[in-house]
Amino acid sequence: MTISNQQIKDFQKYILLWYKSNGRHFPWRNKSATNYQKIISEVLLQRTKAETVAKFYPNFIRKYSSWHQLGNASEQELKDTLRPLGLYNQRGTRLYKLAQELKKRKGRFPKNRTEVEEISMMGQYITNAYEVFILKRPSPLLDVNMARVLERYFGPRQKSDIRYDPYLQDLSRKVVNHINFKEVNWAILDFGALICKAKSPKCNICNLSKECLYFNKIYI
Ligand code: SF4
Repeated sequence: MTISNQQIKDFQKYILLWYKSNGRHFPWRNKSATNYQKIISEVLLQRTKAETVAKFYPNFIRKYSSWHQLGNASEQELKDTLRPLGLYNQRGTRLYKLAQELKKRKGRFPKNRTEVEEISMMGQYITNAYEVFILKRPSPLLDVNMARVLERYFGPRQKSDIRYDPYLQDLSRKVVNHINFKEVNWAILDFGALICKAKSPKCNICNLSKECLYFNKIYI
């Protein structure tokens, strides 16, 4: 399926329009959020609702306010702290390894994507988030929610695993290739959480319905 530049531009335009009046506000999106806070929040947000993370995040940031403090915590301590949020084994190990890596680098952040990929357990999503928030370059925060919105609007993926699907990888990169790439990412995630929901999408109030394949019954 060929997707034209105009289709991409229209999608960006309408989703940003929606976001302007409906976008969600979270502490990690504030201008004052540090690089540390942005990366921590992305690890917490993986496979977890942003509203749930928002309740947990302030206490976590108070307890571990820097890479240094996080680096002094044991892996088990991190897992115990993360237990109420869920996925605590995976998240605990990931944060522990990240903190130890930053400690080894004396707090120096990697300067490019390749260096980030070399850090154990970063994974594609966190590497992309790093690219967006730290390296300040367009990269998709491609998770199941973003995938759902893009697939409904533009058409379905080819492979079951998002990380290895060439269609979704390419499409998501094109969609966030915008001067306001951070906002486009947040817009799609918020839109997926509030309008284009997994169950019962609110197509009747959606400002993207005119061009949406799912809505027009071209893809169900
Ligand atoms: S019309 Fe429905 S399926 Fe299509 S983008 Fe809007 S909410 Fe999602």
